[in-house]
Amino acid sequence: MDAINWSELSFGYMKTDYNVRCYYRDGKWGELEVSSSELLTIHIAATCLHYGQEAFEGLKAFRGKDGQVRVFRMDENGKRLQASSRGIVMAEFPVEKFEEAVRKVVKLNERFVPPYGSGASLYIRPLLIGLGAQVGVAPASEYMFLVFVTPVGPYFKSGFKPAPVCIMRGYDRAAPLGTGTIKVGGNYAASLVAGRKAQENGYAAVLYLDPKEKKYLDECGPANFFGIKDNSYITPGSNSILPSITNKSLQQLAKDMGLNVERRSIEVEELATLEEAAECGTAAVITPISQIDDLDEHKSYVFSKDGKPGPICEKLYNKLKSIQCGDEPDPYGWVTILQ
Ligand SMILES: *Cc1c(COP(=O)(O)O)cnc(C)c1O
Repeated sequence: MDAINWSELSFGYMKTDYNVRCYYRDGKWGELEVSSSELLTIHIAATCLHYGQEAFEGLKAFRGKDGQVRVFRMDENGKRLQASSRGIVMAEFPVEKFEEAVRKVVKLNERFVPPYGSGASLYIRPLLIGLGAQVGVAPASEYMFLVFVTPVGPYFKSGFKPAPVCIMRGYDRAAPLGTGTIKVGGNYAASLVAGRKAQENGYAAVLYLDPKEKKYLDECGPANFFGIKDNSYITPGSNSILPSITNKSLQQLAKDMGLNVERRSIEVEELATLEEAAECGTAAVITPISQIDDLDEHKSYVFSKDGKPGPICEKLYNKLKSIQCGDEPDPYGWVTILQ
């Protein structure tokens, strides 16, 4: 293998040595299998291809100053994959087996875990798909769990910098009582048109409004939204957004920094009163928002004029990153050190 230039990595796919797979057949999960192939051979009538029986996860492993590899909150990802499976009637993959598969795939690909200080990390992508052949609309009887890894660069090539987002009422990513709370590919397919339109107009993401009333803030592209005002961390309470593990972690850190944490409906107009705004998720941890343009109402809410993130966003970002790579103690037991 050619030496990897860790500091030049993008957030993209790179082939690694192994992936780990597990099949559900005859009503039970089999043993974990190791594969060195990047390909799958599946039935042409598999339900994942036709009826969207597909859920995925995303988490990261980091190398610390001590050389050890740390995985962040994988039990939470395991539980969320189960929730996604229930949401689209797929067999649930046991959480202990999920953790074993993650440990195994990271260990097998340890040479791809970027060095400490490079800003890069190992992205871990678990996937669960319906494999059984079905032409009538019904859940499959066979499933496959798969986890692969790929090293990814720092999300912000040019440093931790605020980006603009937009509101467009003509699009939803999920229905009011639909699949917005689970991590399924269908939500992503539904967001591609609006996402491309936003990008063509220079925005990093679409800030969706609640799909029922179009009155409240909802999901921010593939990430959760939060704002800061009057010493409070405020994040939307909604029936159509994904429970982000990053958001959950930031809420804990905010509380311990002495902020109030509010999870509630946030009206669009309340944006005018926020001191800081940001989106959060595994990929970027926090992406501060420089301004939000409400394209239908021809209104702008500006949070950063100087290209710098707000002080609370920056503090939260640094704190979470330090815990993830082991620079700071982990009082919450969020990190698993791989032996
Ligand atoms: C994965 C995802 C997030 C972020 O969740 P994390 O657990 O923080 O990575 C937020 N919103 C959507 C729609 C997602 O799919």
